[in-house]
Amino acid sequence: MGMNRKNILEKLKNEAEFDVLVIGGGATGLGVALDAISRGYRVALVEKVDFGKGTSSKATKLLHGGVRYLQNGDVALVIEALKEREFVLTQAPHLSRIQKFVIPHYTHWQGWYYWAGLKTYDILSGAKSLGVTRKISKDETLEILPNLKQKGLKGGIEYTDGQFDDTRLCIDLVSTINRTGGAVLNYCELDSFLYDESDKINGGIVKDGMTGELFEVRSKSVVNATGVFAEQTMALESNDTDIKIVPARGSHIVLDRSFLQSDEAIMIPKTSDGRVLFLVPWHNVVIAGTTDVVSPELTMEPKATDQEINFILDNAAEYLEKKPTREDILSTFAGLRPLAAPKREGKKSKEISRSHKVIISNAGLVSVLGGKWTTFRKMGEDAIDKIIKKGMLPNRESRSEETVIYNGTPKSNDTYIHPKLPYNWSEIEKYIKEELVETAEDLLCRRTRCILLHKQATMEVLDEVIQLIAKIKDHDEVWQGKQRLAFAEVAKNY
Ligand SMILES: Cc1cc2nc3c(=O)[nH]c(=O)nc-3n(C[C@H](O)[C@H](O)[C@H](O)COP(=O)(O)OP(=O)(O)OC[C@H]3O[C@@H](n4cnc5c(N)ncnc54)[C@H](O)[C@@H]3O)c2cc1C
Repeated sequence: MGMNRKNILEKLKNEAEFDVLVIGGGATGLGVALDAISRGYRVALVEKVDFGKGTSSKATKLLHGGVRYLQNGDVALVIEALKEREFVLTQAPHLSRIQKFVIPHYTHWQGWYYWAGLKTYDILSGAKSLGVTRKISKDETLEILPNLKQKGLKGGIEYTDGQFDDTRLCIDLVSTINRTGGAVLNYCELDSFLYDESDKINGGIVKDGMTGELFEVRSKSVVNATGVFAEQTMALESNDTDIKIVPARGSHIVLDRSFLQSDEAIMIPKTSDGRVLFLVPWHNVVIAGTTDVVSPELTMEPKATDQEINFILDNAAEYLEKKPTREDILSTFAGLRPLAAPKREGKKSKEISRSHKVIISNAGLVSVLGGKWTTFRKMGEDAIDKIIKKGMLPNRESRSEETVIYNGTPKSNDTYIHPKLPYNWSEIEKYIKEELVETAEDLLCRRTRCILLHKQATMEVLDEVIQLIAKIKDHDEVWQGKQRLAFAEVAKNY
């Protein structure tokens, strides 16, 4: 049984009162909805565009404690994230895996420094450690990573972390929650809040993005999980908040595997701007990134700038024998970090704490801010705990840690849609029928990862894919023409 827009809409409209209404269908909102449904609450979630359309499809795709946060002494944050890394690896094994990383070093001193840092990371992982950190010789480093720059190389530190498919996790979370009785729907935007007689928020007016229809959804609690748009959502209710969202853009480039020639990833601990840069194998490609640029522009479609692309290429080239050039880029993608900072202090994005915050306004709007993908479940649990503490819901124990995440990606032996794309036609058909696909973009950017894996190949299958969606969903030629134009526009951002 798949998910059907009509049924979910009816549920949203007909339920007299939900326990939790979540605004935003990215990692944070889905974490809240997952935790709420695990406690047996009645849960609704509305997403303005598509699940993961915001930052949650643009991550570096690492399940990690964040080695670099150790440098800032943020030990509690690292321990929490390491525990959550384990949660995703065990409850969504079809979307996550253990990944080995090597930090190459070019002085002996660096080698010992990184070794000490990663040994600490191991110790903090405790029983959840995925593998022992090793100091490896120059020869072994080159055996593992033959394309690494040889001149001056002294050796490497090999450590272990996790990796996952961010957007597929969004989609499979939606299925998990809807299959457990939730009402989670895309193309539904929170338009404004509803209030009871004592001016407390008790729901929202939601706009169906497919028809423009407005309808009311009543709920005992309402959670704002709108990422970089959280401040805007708060402003629908009150302008009096202490928190400011500082969007910081991070960009990536996608290269073919010849630039890594390995199943292990490279972690460059210090680029020319002092950040870390990853080159990670993912599906049949390599993701290289990321950058950190404060972005004054709040947009749904951030785009990697030429400057950022050059920065990644230059820093990667510093460490590689076969150096990537512009022509080698298969795709690019950029996301905005939803960093939450107190309004008063002006901090650089690198310095703002990565830990999440849950705040509740006077009218009762619960906002979940900051955080990262890896900790999405814990962020949800913390939000619901806080709602219970405030007396908005009766106390029920969280069971989200035990929830197995639905696998919506079974493999079959049908023909591939393109020699360069790892999807076949029966998978595509299943996604269209069962996963709330409304546009070619939903399918090619988020049900599958075609656009990230190979932009050119994706453009080559576009027509056929649009025709299939039209056939299944009964759309006419005009709709198909519009989809072609809309997708060409979106593809410019990759
Ligand atoms: C470049 C980059 C790399 C990263 N890499 C990693 C990584 O490797 N590992 C990791 O753990 N974390 C990583 N992160 C962090 C992680 O991606 C984010 O913390 C997380 O995705 C944020 O999710 P979110 O749900 O808060 O925001 P979003 O995913 O942006 O979701 C918010 C949603 O709210 C919706 N919305 C807005 N307004 C409304 C409205 N009025 N009504 C309904 N819906 C609305 C939007 O459409 C959007 O889909 C990375 C972040 C960036 C930017």
